[in-house]
Amino acid sequence: MKLNVIQPEKTFQCNQCGSCCSHLRGMMPREDREFIEKMAYGKLPLVQLTPIEKMSFPLWDWEAKRFMKWQKEVNVDAKINPSRGILDLNSNKAIIVTYYMDSDACPFLREKKCSIYHTKRAYVCRLFPFNRGPFLKTSQEPTKHNMFGTCGAMDPLMPLMPEKYDDMVKFLSKAFPDGSFENAVQFDCITEWINRTIIDLMRKKMLRPAINYPYELFLKRFENSEKVDFTDFLEDIGYIESKEELIKSFDDNQDAINIINQFLEQ
Ligand code: SF4
Ligand code: SF4
Repeated sequence: MKLNVIQPEKTFQCNQCGSCCSHLRGMMPREDREFIEKMAYGKLPLVQLTPIEKMSFPLWDWEAKRFMKWQKEVNVDAKINPSRGILDLNSNKAIIVTYYMDSDACPFLREKKCSIYHTKRAYVCRLFPFNRGPFLKTSQEPTKHNMFGTCGAMDPLMPLMPEKYDDMVKFLSKAFPDGSFENAVQFDCITEWINRTIIDLMRKKMLRPAINYPYELFLKRFENSEKVDFTDFLEDIGYIESKEELIKSFDDNQDAINIINQFLEQ
């Protein structure tokens, strides 16, 4: 099938300035921050475990496990701690969904270079300069003006990027040979999959999250409960057959590839 795809005159070229790895805190869009302040400290099944000013980017549980291994290999203390979790009143387990690194500059950054660049780094490492992709369903319509973080290498590309949504997505699909566009779409797919899975587990009564607990009491109970990572929990209760297969499908960006191809073939 011949696709009517805009060929960008220029493509994104990261100049490896290291600035996106130097400030992990405070990179959050204003709307996300407002939502977290209002809802994420106990009003939803998934609860924020850290003060908002400490938050850096999220690591999915399997990514945090890899980072914990790699920090030993490169002799770094990455200060990896849980950042969002569910207190399950059925099993009395504290289920950890994401982790974070308790540092503003990434602990793996050395002389402006990533000391684990050769590995399958976390999605948030591989999606920048995107903050989000164009298919994520939120109250805010995605535009070329709200999808990117601060990155000097975007300056030559922005004037070339179409404003119209369809043309913009076609442009994005060609303009990021580093894979960041596909990674941003996959990251959003995983976020949506996590939310859908939590709702499905509740509907099937396989999960009974503590909601609307006084926040300090929630934290104390969470701290004192047996900890389990979300994907381990899903395998333990038989919700998924194989955690390894699930993670491999994420690693291969299968959802993102399908969504992007479906869009381009319309
Ligand atoms: S993505 Fe942008 S901010 Fe990050 S290292 Fe590359 S050029 Fe610098
Ligand atoms: S792990 Fe590497 S790429 Fe990821 S934030 Fe740290 S220095 Fe940057």
